[in-house]
Amino acid sequence: MERILIIEDEEKIARFIELELQFEGYQVEKAFDGRSGLALAQARPFDLILLDIMLPGLNGIEVLRRIRQVSNVPVILLTARDAVVDKVTGLDGGADDYITKPFAIEELLARIRAALRKHRNAVSLPGNLVVGELRLDPVRRECRVGTQPVELTKREFDLLQFLLENKNMVLPREVLLERIWGYDFAGETNVVDVYIRYLRAKLEEPFGLKLIHTVRGVGYIIKDE
Ligand code: CA
Repeated sequence: MERILIIEDEEKIARFIELELQFEGYQVEKAFDGRSGLALAQARPFDLILLDIMLPGLNGIEVLRRIRQVSNVPVILLTARDAVVDKVTGLDGGADDYITKPFAIEELLARIRAALRKHRNAVSLPGNLVVGELRLDPVRRECRVGTQPVELTKREFDLLQFLLENKNMVLPREVLLERIWGYDFAGETNVVDVYIRYLRAKLEEPFGLKLIHTVRGVGYIIKDE
């Protein structure tokens, strides 16, 4: 299920969009100001972010700038009518699209589908994912530490790939479980810990590396040292 974050201070608009998106089968989270929106965007992986520009505290352009430092998640800006400067600044700042308020919900949905599709196509031929000495080639399904090939099972590979795609972000166990194992395993987060141990045994211990870090009570993060 694709996850969408709405950062919009007009709560009625945010709730309205949320209901429509849920109806379309998206999983939705909301934030009503820039700072908490940014915190959510940094704490969890989303497939797409709807970002209002005029926000209290931290404005949308600044939120976008900070998101882009760590993530290429598709971002659609919600702009006020005729705010040409905002649109230009937003697109220059790495937004994928914008929509002018007030908008028809069907148009927003179409733009969301287009942005998700474009992003999927862009990531369908991914480059190598790298952290420190570790290099993952998602196309050839190969993993190397330095020049040394490492054999991974499908599940280990998928888990490692997801960690690397969200490098430098803390990933809660529940999110890893849902993404890699699906809903059938709901609640059994210890399976995540087991597979993290497998990965450490293959990737860290033989090479004296520390790549995957435990965030106590939350989950895991893979990061550059
Ligand atoms: Ca606003």
